[in-house]
Amino acid sequence: MRVAIFTGSSAGPQKHLEVATTFATALARAGLGIVYGGGKVGLMGVVADAAMAAGGEVIGVIPRHLVDQEAADHGITRLEIVASMHERKARMAAVADAFLALPGGAGTMEELFEVWTWGQLGLHAKPVALVDVDGFYRPLIEQLKVMSDAGYIKPSYLGSLGIVADADEFLRFVASYQPPPVRRRRGQGEDLG
Ligand code: AMP
Repeated sequence: MRVAIFTGSSAGPQKHLEVATTFATALARAGLGIVYGGGKVGLMGVVADAAMAAGGEVIGVIPRHLVDQEAADHGITRLEIVASMHERKARMAAVADAFLALPGGAGTMEELFEVWTWGQLGLHAKPVALVDVDGFYRPLIEQLKVMSDAGYIKPSYLGSLGIVADADEFLRFVASYQPPPVRRRRGQGEDLG
């Protein structure tokens, strides 16, 4: 089984580095492969280094135009260089069996929400979770509740997003995951990439 990890291309506070290291180490020791953005920078790089150091399988998927900017890591198990951001995300989604967002910025959010909404549309039935380090994602979780209360997100769908504190909790979430009912609208396209 492989987990795609979305996280910052910047480093963030020390606590985030520690959690990223602990998480990646625990997943690798549990025998899970890691799929990530392929860069050496920020928390992304921390995740890859920790998983490799723990003897894990690490697959990086990076678009050609980011190879220099995100310092593509050629020391991981397999580095795939693809043509575009869209190809990167589609490839990560295809290779992974579950998705996890550690702290990050706009890119991390974009990746998280894309896979979560793909699940809502029934394009996959894989678990998606968020690691809330010291309340980092609390305002985001609150906003999702505001959206749900206003009728924009079904409670069953909101409940499908895992919110976990550590790797054990994530593994339990994945093991017991039941995909939410698929939301469909008439005339809606099926192919998002
Ligand atoms: P960030 O959280 O902004 O540091 O970005 C984390 C990862 O998301 C990096 O690998 C970025 O290359 C990637 N990223 C940044 N912007 C986008 C975007 N618009 N769509 C998809 N991925 C992105």
